[in-house]
Amino acid sequence: SDTVERHEFGAEVGRLLDLVVHALYSDREIFLRELVANAADAVDRRRFEALTQPIPALPADAAVRILPDKPGRTLTIADPGIGMGKEELARNLGTIARSGTRAFSQALAESKASDRPSLIGQFGVGFYSAFIVAERVEVVSRRAGSEEAWRWESEGQGAFTLAPATREAPGTDIVLHMRADAEEFLEPFRLHAIIRKWADHITVPITIAEDGKDTPANEGTALWRKPKPEISAEDYTAFYRHLGHYFDEPWSTLHWRAEGTTEFTALLFIPGMKPFEAFEGERRSRLRLHVRRMFITDEAELLPPWLRFVQGVVDSEDLPLNVSREMLQATPVLARIRRAVTGRVLSELKSRAKDAEGYATFWQNFGPMLKEGIWEDSEQRKEIAPLLRFRSSAVEGWTSLPDYVARMPEGQSAIYILVGDNIEALSRSTQLEGFRARGVEVLLLADQMDAFWPERLGEFEGKPVRSITQGNIDLSGLGTAPPEGKAPADVTRLLPLLKAALEAEISEVRATDRLVDSAAVLAAPAHGPDLALQRLLRRAGR
Ligand code: ADP
Ligand code: MG
Repeated sequence: SDTVERHEFGAEVGRLLDLVVHALYSDREIFLRELVANAADAVDRRRFEALTQPIPALPADAAVRILPDKPGRTLTIADPGIGMGKEELARNLGTIARSGTRAFSQALAESKASDRPSLIGQFGVGFYSAFIVAERVEVVSRRAGSEEAWRWESEGQGAFTLAPATREAPGTDIVLHMRADAEEFLEPFRLHAIIRKWADHITVPITIAEDGKDTPANEGTALWRKPKPEISAEDYTAFYRHLGHYFDEPWSTLHWRAEGTTEFTALLFIPGMKPFEAFEGERRSRLRLHVRRMFITDEAELLPPWLRFVQGVVDSEDLPLNVSREMLQATPVLARIRRAVTGRVLSELKSRAKDAEGYATFWQNFGPMLKEGIWEDSEQRKEIAPLLRFRSSAVEGWTSLPDYVARMPEGQSAIYILVGDNIEALSRSTQLEGFRARGVEVLLLADQMDAFWPERLGEFEGKPVRSITQGNIDLSGLGTAPPEGKAPADVTRLLPLLKAALEAEISEVRATDRLVDSAAVLAAPAHGPDLALQRLLRRAGR
């Protein structure tokens, strides 16, 4: 009819669809995980939104329903969730919100086949996995609070259509017109197996229609509420993988119950791998907040931004079930939970840091985020500092501030650092000559964050942190004296000549005891940005 609008997919979507369908062909069943996860999210969002917005409350028996129809060769996933209006259908299902095709295809190319099913979730392209099994997908949706319904339809070939439709109540039906070779996904026993494997932890009830009735398909128990002895390592791992689309083992699993003024149960994971978007995505924690099992929101920011790599669930006993966004912001309960959870994660890091090898894995994944913490979290700065790891001019492997301080020779009063773009180049830098000759250790820093945070830290155990590219570092009397015959020559007559020749580039020329073999080295003013920061500012055009 003439009310049907045709839209082209965003340029990237067409290519993405191809990629998804081909790369994941051997893991086709994950389409169901993705669609059921979306449906359950939509239910949670409606429950939460109904607390503060004038939309109809979620029905008490709300469930995600899976309806196979063999004669019609369709599979429908129906939810009574928040639904989508016309614009949302076009935007959410017609463009790629989070990351580009290129990043996704690169990640696909670099991944092991077994890791691919979780990439799809990490890149926020779950919906498109419908086309792995369907030759045509219809989405009929009604936004909660609206009378209108819309039908989105596509064969996944470059375009989709939008047309008015009808739906009795708010929610969404995803109707998959299955490919001939995907009929296995119309068998209830097969669907049950997939849900048990991938979606058992979803707390919204999921049912599968068979013989004219809906049979429950997920256990829906909140794993974190079970007594610890009843939880196996495999249970924990499965839940961790489900939470964040990970495919490895957690580096750390923290499961505890807090009692006293604030009662809550927490199940947290520190990932064993770095998710692809870790440093590009939003800078805030997405820990899930539940109240007595019921999912409330993942926007309560239960951890500071620099701990956003921690995944998991906090289930409160104290908050009311109908806690709204406004109330969340105001309640002291949340502040107490935040403090307790942050403290627990920090103490875990502290204790795991004693195992150098195991900690190095963590450090390589998330070290830069701890440095963000030094930069922005004045409350925790002192706690974070000993958890930092460094390359050094004097020792192999990783070292720490406490170890550096313990190695400091008599007479050394500062912690010396050298910041640059890569460790290799730093370890050959002229800047190190005088320090090496005197046996004075320098920490080498080459992360992007390193130009900034050391100044915020200021000092460690009373020892100021000093960049060695800043002028007027006096090395006399430090460490072992440099070899005989290398004492600085009398250059007093040379200095004014150099100064005159280089006047446009430099502000001062000074004799130094910082060099052994080289004739000259650049230095920054004693107070002001060091050379690495100057370079960065120049690059940024300041
Ligand atoms: P992600 O879930 O990671 O955001 P998806 O490709 O799975 O990525 O889904 C894209 C978006 O489409 C979702 O963020 C959501 O806004 C919307 N969406 C998908 N399925 C539903 C549904 N059943 N009900 C409401 N919104 C949905
Ligand atoms: Mg999704």
